[in-house]
This record gives sequence, structure tokens and C-alpha cells, in this order.
Amino acid sequence: MAIREVLIYPDSRLKEMAEDVQSLDDKAKQVIQDLLDTMEASGHSTGIAATQIGEPLRIVVADASKNKKCEDHHGRLIIINPEILKWEGMLQFREGCMSVPDFTGNVNRARKILIKFKDENFNERVIESEGFEAVLLQHETDHLDGTLFIDRVISKRTDLFRRKKYK
Ligand code: ZN
Repeated sequence: MAIREVLIYPDSRLKEMAEDVQSLDDKAKQVIQDLLDTMEASGHSTGIAATQIGEPLRIVVADASKNKKCEDHHGRLIIINPEILKWEGMLQFREGCMSVPDFTGNVNRARKILIKFKDENFNERVIESEGFEAVLLQHETDHLDGTLFIDRVISKRTDLFRRKKYK
């Protein structure tokens, strides 16, 4: 187990397309543990994708319960090979990212999603997620395709905000 360095934009590895995980081998298990350790160590983070620690594998860990304002969630999720099957509705959310520490930005996301993935035992799960957690899972799944929230910000002129320090 290890706390890993989080890559910071514009590191080109953040733009990489991650590969599907074929089996729960030692490498995949190590990446999962490192993601959990790195998320925990940051304190505030509700999710992190493998591409953010320089591992181009389709693995994400997320924990919407760490956002005190989020009441509707599935707790800590280990998400392998995610596939969003359905998008419903729309909401605008002010997003931040450990890889983009200097900015937050307004992004349009689906309000509700149906997402399929493999869990930490490599069992298939399909869950419906709504609100903050749905936004979080869309943000993290985007990372696996090399997409950052700043690529989706509504307007770079009016919807991107500089911040002094990541909180
Ligand atoms: Zn992010």
C-alpha cells in the first residue's frame, strides 16, 4: 500500500485513454489499494481515477459519503471497467479536481445515471446513482477517457474560477 503522487494538469498522462482491466491480478489489486490510500490521505477527496496516479487502467475509487451534503449515495465504491448505460436529466455542478488544483468550474452533467462496473471482487454490479454521486461518477469515469472537467466547463470565460488553495 502506498500514497501516490497525484498528477497535475497539464501532465500528458492525464490525457491517456485507460485500458480495460482483464482480471483482478496483483497489479490491479495494487492500483486499487494505492487509490484508496491516496484518496484517504487527501482527506477531502471524494474520488480518484487510476490515470491520476499514472496508471492507465480503468479503475476508479469513489466515496460520495465524504461529502456531508450528499445524503443519497452508495458509500465507498471500487469501480472497475465502468460503463454508463443511461443518462437522465441535467444539472449544473461546480466541480474541482485534485489534478487541477488551481481552478473550479461549472459543468453540465446528467442528474441521474445507470452505471455498470465490476467491483473489488470482480463481480458485475449495476447501480442507479443520482445527484452529487452521479456527478462524481461521471467526473471519475471521464478521467479514464483522458477527459478533465476543464474540458467540459460550460464557458472558459465565465464558468472557470481560480482558487488560491485546494480545499
Ligand atoms: Zn478529477
